[in-house]
Amino acid sequence: MDKEFSSAEITKCFLDRMAKYVHWNAFITVCEESALRSAQLSDQKIAAGTAGALEGVPIALKDLFLSKGIRTTAGSKMLHNFIPPYESTVSQKLLDAGAVVLGKTNMDEFAMGSANITSHYGPVVNPWSRDKKLVPGGSSGGSAAAVAGHLCAAATGSDTGGSVRQPAAFSGIVGLKPTYGRCSRYGMVAFASSLDQAGPLTKTVRDAAIFLKVISGHDEKDSTSAARTTPDFESFAGKSIRGMKIGVPGEYKIAGMSEEIIDYWRKGAEILKDAGAEIVEVSLPHSKYALPAYYIIAPAEASANLARYDGVRYGFRAEGKTLKEMYENTRAEGFGDEVKRRILIGAYVLSAGYYDAYYLRALKVRKLILQDFLSAFEKVDLLLTPSTPTSAFAFGEEPKDPVTMYLNDVCTVTANMAGLPGISVPIGLDKLNRPLGLQLMAPHFQEERLIQAGDVLEKGANFPALTEVA
Ligand code: GLN
Repeated sequence: MDKEFSSAEITKCFLDRMAKYVHWNAFITVCEESALRSAQLSDQKIAAGTAGALEGVPIALKDLFLSKGIRTTAGSKMLHNFIPPYESTVSQKLLDAGAVVLGKTNMDEFAMGSANITSHYGPVVNPWSRDKKLVPGGSSGGSAAAVAGHLCAAATGSDTGGSVRQPAAFSGIVGLKPTYGRCSRYGMVAFASSLDQAGPLTKTVRDAAIFLKVISGHDEKDSTSAARTTPDFESFAGKSIRGMKIGVPGEYKIAGMSEEIIDYWRKGAEILKDAGAEIVEVSLPHSKYALPAYYIIAPAEASANLARYDGVRYGFRAEGKTLKEMYENTRAEGFGDEVKRRILIGAYVLSAGYYDAYYLRALKVRKLILQDFLSAFEKVDLLLTPSTPTSAFAFGEEPKDPVTMYLNDVCTVTANMAGLPGISVPIGLDKLNRPLGLQLMAPHFQEERLIQAGDVLEKGANFPALTEVA
């Protein structure tokens, strides 16, 4: 740190920009006073030589990380008045490291979506928008827009099927989904518990490494968090990839994918090859079943997780003449359409008559997908694919039917199904000047490799920073 600016100065600067670009709708809640207060405290710690790893760094939290005393909505009317009595482990770790929380970012309702258009608090605008207003991707769309538009230094996201990597790709920034279990899920509003994982959205791969180190680690409050030591991820940025084997799975050449994306994919492979890696063609034969299986498993888990919103203990409540009517009215008025759709699908695939035909079968598919990856990783160290099948679309041009919308996650859901870590790195702009990203996936708990190769990719891509914003 060169100490050219104080934390109070940079925090004030971000808060001013947040006010100036309020029309992007990136934040649901702004924590101006507490941010300025903690920035001053950080400046004192820096002066005293007791700075934490992120001391004084202004960040944003996706609005599904519970923040003690600060409203946490998960993008839903259901939690419009919910002030958590405790802090999520991930945000607590960030606070302990000295990060300054600027606010809570907008998101698709309960993290269900790929365009940040299902939020009860309105859509988010991608700072890359020019003549047309573009979506930032989702569900961590507010976090992605805030990082891309320089409203904060970094932000948290959550990734159940791609919600960190896909908005990162749409917004020209870096998004990293850690291995399932690397970060604690304690205090994150649950969507699909066997898939959810917190992850950083940052401007650079090195930043992602620094952020990841802070939020990683075993937590006894989450039984699925892994008892692993946390490597010094940052030390892998800048490390040579000579001799690494990087697999390119043909199955990710999705029907309808533009030539531009395929060209950038080739370019990415060239960058890695020029840096000394060996590019190997590999096959992940069950990839095409991942998306349909995800859209059974994720809604099934969501329908169970969302059963808790009944208007009784916390959150929104609609009146009713009887208890049953109160439940019904609360859920009818409190949830948006996409969330209701997922609950219906989930309840259906878990119902007695259909459990074997859908849910059980989807679990079997999930095993096969994991097997595909495990065999591929016997031959290669990493996999390289596009992050998304398209670039960001404009409002009004988004797919109208939900199933086409679900295609956004086709490149990213596989890593969630298998619990693998993945990173999206900006690779270039398409003809319409919209960002595109490439994804690297690694074996379980090998995030170091994502940092190592991601850094090479980033330097080779020389992606243009966003300077002018609308
Ligand atoms: N877009 C996917 C969905 O709607 C993934 C969301 C996520 O990762 N939270 O389910």
